[in-house]
Amino acid sequence: MNSIIHLEQILKNYYMGTQAIPVLKGVSLDIHQNEYVALMGPSGSGKSTLMNILGCLDTPTGGKYVLNGKDVSKMPDDELANVRNGEIGFVFQQFNLLPRLTAAENVALPLIYAGVGKKERLERAMEALKQVGLETRSHHKSNELSGGQIQRVAIARALVNNPSLLLADEPTGNLDSKTSVEVMELFSQIQQAGNTVVLVTHEEDIAAYAKRIVRLRDGLIESDRLN
Ligand code: ADP
Ligand code: MG
Repeated sequence: MNSIIHLEQILKNYYMGTQAIPVLKGVSLDIHQNEYVALMGPSGSGKSTLMNILGCLDTPTGGKYVLNGKDVSKMPDDELANVRNGEIGFVFQQFNLLPRLTAAENVALPLIYAGVGKKERLERAMEALKQVGLETRSHHKSNELSGGQIQRVAIARALVNNPSLLLADEPTGNLDSKTSVEVMELFSQIQQAGNTVVLVTHEEDIAAYAKRIVRLRDGLIESDRLN
């Protein structure tokens, strides 16, 4: 099996003035293509910091990150942005949709940055909305959609570039439990369709949908087991 994510002794410090605050203290991890992984751990344990590094939104202070065979740990920002836009879909707890745009327009946004023409943008946005079961809501704006539908739109937006890796940081954190289950089932479908999915949650019953659970504590992996 190919590793899509290969982490070796990842370190991350934040700085308060000149004082280094170590947050990730040597994280080594391999995630293979088509896995479905839940990252768990107490608040402040470094989950979001790790996800931002995995998503090429931030770079580690030390250690090595090889994504799809490319060492991205010391890549300059512009190259890193290309990797991010080409290979990664990111879903946040705050859905981050633009309220003035329709669902389809929100989903098509990453394609504007990728320089895709308008007709193809809308076609691909519709395809992604279909993947999340929302093709009939394409012309609705956020205020006409439920919380679960809005998160589905955000997931469609993360999928529209056909990323090999889908990352989600507490994607059900703002959803009620029934809607959370629907969103987790959607991630299962996405994984079964061939994507690799890594998501953060601190709810055990939500993590139960994943095939593997990695637990972080105080910047280190505490356990890593199949579910
Ligand atoms: P989690 O997602 O597991 O709750 P985070 O990765 O967000 O944890 O944060 C880990 C630690 O790093 C926390 O102590 C947090 O306060 C600190 N931290 C996170 N982001 C920053 C930042 N940009 N600057 C300084 N400290 C930060
Ligand atoms: Mg977090």
